[in-house]
Amino acid sequence: MKSENTVWHAQSVSRQMREQQKSQRGKVLWYTGLSGSGKSTIANAVDIKLHELGKHTYLLDGDNVRHGLNGDLGFDDAARIENIRRVAEVAKLFVDAGLIVSTAFISPFRSDREYARDLIGAADFIEVFIDTPFEICEQRDPKGLYQKARSGEISNFIGISSPYEAPTTPDIHIQTNELSVEQATAEIVAQLRFEKI
Ligand code: ADP
Repeated sequence: MKSENTVWHAQSVSRQMREQQKSQRGKVLWYTGLSGSGKSTIANAVDIKLHELGKHTYLLDGDNVRHGLNGDLGFDDAARIENIRRVAEVAKLFVDAGLIVSTAFISPFRSDREYARDLIGAADFIEVFIDTPFEICEQRDPKGLYQKARSGEISNFIGISSPYEAPTTPDIHIQTNELSVEQATAEIVAQLRFEKI
């Protein structure tokens, strides 16, 4: 920690007050899955649904965050870890603000997702595994990234030249080769009813 001489300020408006004003609990929906698995598509569809239900939400999407806050980070292991650390810290602030925040990042390392869960607090952290077989992700290739990785244009590509550690006990498990986007969205929203959001 480089900022040693800083003191945490007590704030008068608490998380609980912010949550009461919004009639909801702050939560993180932490989506994880391979590139092209459907994280952004499904997270966006769930976000629309929650918004329609009157929830106060925010969506942090991998590509968008890499354009701004994390624009200085590359794709080696150290940068991936820092990417997720910053996302987890931002998500924690959003939860403190009383929002339901969805994060759509590959987040390939189990240890990073555990770090995020510990930082945010297990009670407020919902891991959503968008489980799509590698072959289907490669076929979909919505951003042409698999093709670039195969031709060697991209190195350290998750699933090809860098590992993806699948969750073993996700809170919500979605298999997109069995569910359409609409069905996956409905399934997640249905499961959220148990989470007291
Ligand atoms: P990620 O954010 O995981 O990289 P994207 O959401 O950007 O993935 O891309 C997933 C692609 O797969 C989209 O083009 C989406 O329309 C398509 N797709 C096809 N079937 C499904 C499904 N059942 N669930 C999610 N995405 C699907």
